[in-house]
Amino acid sequence: MVRVRFAPSPTGYLHIGSARTALFNWLYARHTGGQFILRIEDTDKVRSNPEFLDEILGSLKWLFMEWDGELTFQSKRFDLYKKYAEALVEKKLAFREGAAIIFKVEKERRVFFDDMIHGRIDFSTDEIKDQVLMKSDGTPTYNFACVVDDAQMKITHVIRGDDHISNTPKQILLYNALGFEIPQFAHIPLILSKDGGRLSKRHGATSIFEYKNMGFVAEALVNYLALMGWAPGNDVEILPIAEMIKLFDVKNVNKTGATFDMDKLGWLNSQYIKNMEINKLIAETKEFLKCKGVIDDKFDEKKWGEIVLAYKERTRTLEDFVSVYKIFFNSELEYDEKAVEKYLKKPNSKDIIVKCRAVLEKLPAFDHNSIEGAYRKLADELKMKPAELIHPTRVAISGKTVGAGLFEMMAILGRDAVLKRMEKFC
Ligand code: GLU
Repeated sequence: MVRVRFAPSPTGYLHIGSARTALFNWLYARHTGGQFILRIEDTDKVRSNPEFLDEILGSLKWLFMEWDGELTFQSKRFDLYKKYAEALVEKKLAFREGAAIIFKVEKERRVFFDDMIHGRIDFSTDEIKDQVLMKSDGTPTYNFACVVDDAQMKITHVIRGDDHISNTPKQILLYNALGFEIPQFAHIPLILSKDGGRLSKRHGATSIFEYKNMGFVAEALVNYLALMGWAPGNDVEILPIAEMIKLFDVKNVNKTGATFDMDKLGWLNSQYIKNMEINKLIAETKEFLKCKGVIDDKFDEKKWGEIVLAYKERTRTLEDFVSVYKIFFNSELEYDEKAVEKYLKKPNSKDIIVKCRAVLEKLPAFDHNSIEGAYRKLADELKMKPAELIHPTRVAISGKTVGAGLFEMMAILGRDAVLKRMEKFC
């Protein structure tokens, strides 16, 4: 059975690159009916922090990557590493230097492995120094703990970032020395920024947590991460998780770096919002507004549902719903000054708003169709284009030039609020 693992160090938040590594492991496990194990590489007691761990686990769960079985903590396994290091001393393959244990690397040998993505990778041991296994403070090194654990945990495939390629020959020497079976390796290319360099803070948000906070939905982020460096063989851009699981194979991951493109992610997010089942979208937006402290428990859920339906085709992130919320529920409207200048400060602006308002006041029913009919009729009477009435009205009632359909917005706002907002410009 395929057993893969994701092995984060809790020394920082889960960032885009690691989340994609986790995702490729997870997809491979689910595709093959195998297991996805989490190992926490917390050997650095000073830099490891439980807060980071919580955040990493929270981000994985948010992105649907449930793991199998219990977590393994390297910090609880120091005795095991020590035992194996001492066995190597015993076999004269390692030596002590003070309290440290060091592995002797025989020179003039070749180490190679067949990477599932890059093909054969070959190193000379002349390039590899003797390896510290246990440091003098009693903690294991990354390469040593990693080998002991991958073997003990019966990991069949090691899928990790290609920044680890140079560690792999060192690890293979240790597998051989310890008599462990060598797993398959797949080194996935790094994620690059648009300018070609390594993705870093400089290019904006890097942690998953920040993307959640900016209003990206989990499904869109998973979709985006999966297609960064992997393609299911056609030009498909929107791929639900169930499809990904069906189609994913680590062998098909690209050899070259994938580029992170924020605009593309934004577009994908807007597609997921647009196509999301409406009750789920209402729940997600509500949760988001709550997190942002925009709403409390007194919240007009029915009205919000209508608003979400009216706006879902026009938003890029959940964050956009914050300003939408304010249009409908804040007593003080925020106005786009330029829009006010353009549509409400013209010589005939006041006249237009007064006439529209008078019609709305007398309208027997205040619904989308009635309002639209009345506006079209009034435009005819005034020999104006409907747009000449619609734009100023929109700015007067929402403060903005863009948004959902005007008549839809007016119907949701209700007659009293609409008349009150228009009065300001009469
Ligand atoms: N803790 C290591 C890292 O985060 C794990 C590398 C590996 O998967 O072997 O880079």
